[in-house]
Amino acid sequence: MAALSDFRLLRPASAAEAVRLRGEYPASRFIAGGTDLLPNMRRGLVTADAVIDLGRIAELSELRVVDDRLHIGAGVTLATLAADPVARARLPALAQAAAAVAGPTHRAAATLGGNLCLDTRCMYYNQSEPWRDAIDNCMKIAGDTCRVATKSPRCWAAFSGDVAPALLVLGAEVQILGPQGMRNLPLSEFYRDDGMAWLSLAPGELLLSVRVPLADGWLSAYEKLQIRGAIDFPLTGVAVALRRTGDLIGELRIACTGVSSRPELIGGLDALAGKTLDDAALSGIDRQIRRGTQPMETTVISVAYRRRATPVLAKRLAKRLWAASA
Ligand SMILES: Cc1cc2nc3c(=O)[nH]c(=O)nc-3n(C[C@H](O)[C@H](O)[C@H](O)COP(=O)(O)OP(=O)(O)OC[C@H]3O[C@@H](n4cnc5c(N)ncnc54)[C@H](O)[C@@H]3O)c2cc1C
Repeated sequence: MAALSDFRLLRPASAAEAVRLRGEYPASRFIAGGTDLLPNMRRGLVTADAVIDLGRIAELSELRVVDDRLHIGAGVTLATLAADPVARARLPALAQAAAAVAGPTHRAAATLGGNLCLDTRCMYYNQSEPWRDAIDNCMKIAGDTCRVATKSPRCWAAFSGDVAPALLVLGAEVQILGPQGMRNLPLSEFYRDDGMAWLSLAPGELLLSVRVPLADGWLSAYEKLQIRGAIDFPLTGVAVALRRTGDLIGELRIACTGVSSRPELIGGLDALAGKTLDDAALSGIDRQIRRGTQPMETTVISVAYRRRATPVLAKRLAKRLWAASA
């Protein structure tokens, strides 16, 4: 792997200062745990003349319950989140997803903010410079061709963060600070279906925190498929949240990762409310996931396998939660 190029290291003490510095150094990048940014800089996928370290900003490390919501600063590490008693008891999909990221040493440094802002991935992009040069690069780094779909006008790199789908089914909202001030938006609006512009963060904006409702009556879970048993991105990952009303489905939410350029909250599941989780409902889940995701040839594992495996994972989780809620 190539050596890191030189950069200036800036260490702000507040979120406001971090945003100001980002404006002062337009070619800079925020760094949190650095477990995605630094490998990408070494591979020449990302360039930055200055790196703004978020590690000294106390407000980004806050983790507390406020008004029946779990407030999680963007700088909270995934190890902390995976072990947090509130997350484990009331938002299990979130704790399970945080625990599923990479390996223990990564999770000790990696943050929630870095995971949600993770670069999209593709086997034609996450390669060394000589490898990429040998195929004349791809649209995401240089040129105008997406190697996954050569006639497509867009990039199909996949979002492969584990935590976003869990937060989507749990109804999370994000808080963002930028040069124009603060704004909040549902996590579903934080993402775009575009491998090159997958975040709706404006230039210079900083993800401050995530707020997750601690609503009663919900069960949730997250699982992923990966090539290796550990330290591996999801080929596909699925989060499910279920609220049961008596013998019937009150509400069912499913979100997937690794199979589109953004984490996908699956639509069309409202039709299952008021029904039981029988074979017809499971077929409905299958159908909606196939409609709502579009795995492409972004990994070495076939598109056909990921298309089939994603609904299988979702149905397995839904059945498990259904049984647990009885
Ligand atoms: C071997 C290996 C295996 C991995 N396996 C997985 C896996 O299984 N699942 C998975 O999800 N990830 C995996 N990763 C990727 C990465 O470790 C995690 O996604 C991690 O959570 C990234 O967090 P970080 O704090 O290290 O991010 P950083 O690398 O610091 O930042 C990532 C990106 O987010 C931006 N950013 C960070 N914080 C903020 C903020 N507050 N506001 C705005 N932008 C911000 C940075 O500028 C950068 O562009 C793996 C990485 C490696 C090297």
